[in-house]
Amino acid sequence: MKFLTVDNSAEIIGAPYKGRMLINGELCDAQSGDQAERRSPAHDVVVGLYPNAARADAVRAIDAARAAFDEGAWPNMSARERADVLLKVADGISARVEEMALIECLETGKPLTQARGEVSGCVDLWKYAASLARNLHGESYNTLGESHLGVVLRQPVGVVSMITPWNFPIWILSQKLPFALAAGCTAVIKPSELTNGTTLMLGEILLEAGLPKGVVNIVTGLGPAVGQPLVGHPKVDMVSFTGSTRVGRLIAAEAGAALKKVSLELGGKNPQIIFPDCDWDAAVDAVVFGVYFNAGECCNSGSRILVHKDIAERFTQAVIERTRQVPVGDPLHPDVKVGAIISETQMGGIQAAIDEAREAGATISLGGERHGTEPGLYIQPTIVTGVTSDMTIAREEVFGPVLSVLTFESVDEAIALANDTCYGLSAAVWSKDIDVCLKAARKIDAGTVWVNTFLDGFAELPFGGFRDSGLGRELGRHAVEDYTEQKTVQLHIGERTNWWLPK
Ligand code: NDP
Repeated sequence: MKFLTVDNSAEIIGAPYKGRMLINGELCDAQSGDQAERRSPAHDVVVGLYPNAARADAVRAIDAARAAFDEGAWPNMSARERADVLLKVADGISARVEEMALIECLETGKPLTQARGEVSGCVDLWKYAASLARNLHGESYNTLGESHLGVVLRQPVGVVSMITPWNFPIWILSQKLPFALAAGCTAVIKPSELTNGTTLMLGEILLEAGLPKGVVNIVTGLGPAVGQPLVGHPKVDMVSFTGSTRVGRLIAAEAGAALKKVSLELGGKNPQIIFPDCDWDAAVDAVVFGVYFNAGECCNSGSRILVHKDIAERFTQAVIERTRQVPVGDPLHPDVKVGAIISETQMGGIQAAIDEAREAGATISLGGERHGTEPGLYIQPTIVTGVTSDMTIAREEVFGPVLSVLTFESVDEAIALANDTCYGLSAAVWSKDIDVCLKAARKIDAGTVWVNTFLDGFAELPFGGFRDSGLGRELGRHAVEDYTEQKTVQLHIGERTNWWLPK
């Protein structure tokens, strides 16, 4: 398997980015002065220096967001004015794509080319949210009889905490923040301690765009110290979380006890179903892309394929051959498609999942080993065959470049296998038979079903999961509404006649 290196990586990496938090309109350090450093998982050099905040810093940020919502101009200004700010932020991101892509690449280990696409893609999300801001409206009922008019208002929900993970840091934040701002909410954000860089750069951009003080606050630090108050504090009205199902459950329990609104985007064990009449080359390519994109560290990773028995051997062989061509290596190399794994902990988890599959009786048909030279954290693209639905590798997220191959004999069996996990995030069907595609699309429990394609995404289309994959949807034309409360205003017209007690 190819492994690509870069001779002048130190020159490209340069000096570490020193990020500062954003609290109440000011860039600041932790009150304690504590700092944390982030080392690049591909090169093991320091690439970022960040405040290591404590609970007191998080509470300061929450207080600022509360004051900006209760007393500030943001929730009450016109949608046109809010949209103008969002468009300025979009321009600000556009102007810093290279800088943001480099830090995203260095902190996550993902290819620089991919990071560039991701940061540029965020620009569209901010623009789309700006368009929705001006379309947000309620309802009116002129059908309640002569004496009544009903108006349903949409009001911002209040202070929203956003807790984000390390796999697509700026993209996932851009699926949340501009939509909450469009609604008139204020926010407190905690990025993953592994990938603070682009979120803090966004803080700088928000200031330059003229966002009023306290509307967005960013605190950096560990989940239990900084994330927990963002969930439990009584001044927070809603929590929007993306990350593991385990932490999602904790957050939902705590937010539920306080009856706060929660939005959760969690894990997936997403199947691609391959029928014998598929467009062969396109399906092989999509399977390889689907599982190795972002080194498999992706909630939407196509980490299972379900292949019809008649073609299983030949199709799997074709996937193995194509996988051998996937360039792995230094994420700064322009040809690399699979970069480094985020952390030693994640590496250990991936290796343990492969070992467990082997012990359960599956076959490691390709890869399965550490790749490249240390200290870089790389794993070979891996294909596990002979997998059955009862094995952990078929049911649990690996969050690494590991594909499980299962087989089926009928459409019904394929659908049953697709649904045989606790998750329900996404799936794909590959067939030229429209009846088969539509039946599968209807019967698979997933927030997204792709037909003869995989991982395409558009701001217009809602994203989220069934079952353990989460609660609620992001994106789509209702995305701003998720950050609102409805208020019914009932108006009486003319003289009152229906007295409760006789006059
Ligand atoms: P987590 O779910 O632990 O972390 C996601 C975010 O939640 C981080 O910002 C984290 O902070 C924060 N957090 C952690 N604990 C708490 C808490 N008690 N209260 C509030 N916030 C908290 O994911 P990991 O990074 O640990 O990854 C573990 C696994 O999760 C992966 O192997 C993968 O399976 C899955 N995952 C799924 C993602 C998805 O997109 N659905 C994304 C990332 C991971 P911090 O880490 O800074 O302490």
